[in-house]
Amino acid sequence: MNVLDKTYSQELDSKDSLAKYRKDFHIPVFSGKQALYFTGNSLGLMPKLAEKYMTEELEDWKKWGVEGHVHARRPWMPYHEFFSESLAKIVGGKPEEVVVMGSLTNNLHLLMVSFFRPKGKRTKILCEAKAFPSDQYALASQLRFHGLEPSEHLIEIGPRHGEHHIHQEDIRSALDQYGDQIAMMMIGGVNYYTGQVMDMKNLTAHAQSKGIIVGWDLAHGAGNVELQLHDWNVDFAAWCHYKYINSGPGATAGYFIHERHHGQSEIPRFEGWWGHDKETRFEMPDTFKPIPTAEAWQLSNAPVMAMAPLRASLDLFEQAGFHNLRTKSEKLTAYLQEVLEFIAIETVSNFEIITPRKERGAQLSLLVHGYGKPLFDHLTEQGVIADWREPNVIRMAPVPLYNSFEDVRAFGQILMNYLNTNRA
Ligand SMILES: *Cc1c(COP(=O)(O)O)cnc(C)c1O
Repeated sequence: MNVLDKTYSQELDSKDSLAKYRKDFHIPVFSGKQALYFTGNSLGLMPKLAEKYMTEELEDWKKWGVEGHVHARRPWMPYHEFFSESLAKIVGGKPEEVVVMGSLTNNLHLLMVSFFRPKGKRTKILCEAKAFPSDQYALASQLRFHGLEPSEHLIEIGPRHGEHHIHQEDIRSALDQYGDQIAMMMIGGVNYYTGQVMDMKNLTAHAQSKGIIVGWDLAHGAGNVELQLHDWNVDFAAWCHYKYINSGPGATAGYFIHERHHGQSEIPRFEGWWGHDKETRFEMPDTFKPIPTAEAWQLSNAPVMAMAPLRASLDLFEQAGFHNLRTKSEKLTAYLQEVLEFIAIETVSNFEIITPRKERGAQLSLLVHGYGKPLFDHLTEQGVIADWREPNVIRMAPVPLYNSFEDVRAFGQILMNYLNTNRA
């Protein structure tokens, strides 16, 4: 028996105690067949409960009008509070450190207003080279906002020549070398391109030992890898909910602010009424009295319709248990790697998995030497939904809540058939 035998994948599925959650998602059907969906790192699939929860809010709006703020089944006034407990478990924070609000890039800017405060000699930002474009724009524009030239004040750490992932010791060396000039380090906790997971705990401690404020962009981390933001003493973090947290296109995002920064009057902040003390908010006093938690950074009342799907997804995370999901995720991704390695040998193909084996979450990024877009287009025609990055990288993330081992096998068979008939 080899890894592409159906009995092999079926055996793995039959032993998988989380397999039952697949039926709680809508799996897209293309050309009459369920897709082999590997883009949960880009847009997670729709939990079936999302429709029910959204419909309930529509019904309550219909029934109550403005009174829904108090009388809806889940009152809209404190609506954002319904997420804090379960989300805090996913990111390893305390509920009072975690807030659902706005969008990722918006939140990054708001957090940097508070946590990127260049002063004296300490003016630089350390980040990863070729960060996700939105992060690059955000960081450069924050620097310019402070009158600083990005080409001089952005320290970017990239892979070594001819390599794809970052040596984390290179980040530590840069921190040692430029530590007293760096105001803030902000890096993707899981790199969107290679899937590399950063050693967030030790890098945070290392940077903080140099007096640097540390923020993590967890767009590809939240709901994917285990995080302990509170215990790691991370200053702040932000993420979106439409990738691994399955809350729909452009879903409301989330942020974390460590409790030691709560209630600190010397930290500047852009403010709005939803950050104001709940007791006196509707007395509309002239002066802002911050909620003594991360909620002080909230601006507006909750976009309830946009947030409803997040409840559906968090219900499933809660039931499955994040630790169990991660355990399955490691097996699924290891199986994907085994399948790819088997096919590479069988078909004498040259693939390179550029995701470091010991530093990864769900995603594998695959460089397919000698093959270009036609291979990817063929996969798409066969119902494999993956992600293509020029010139020849395929990103795939089997997701433990809804992908099966059989999904991985079926993809492998399609790839093998193609490579056997189309030589590079
Ligand atoms: C997905 C992603 C974004 C997207 O930003 P939005 O504000 O949600 O549009 C930003 N940064 C990283 C690292 C991402 O992976």
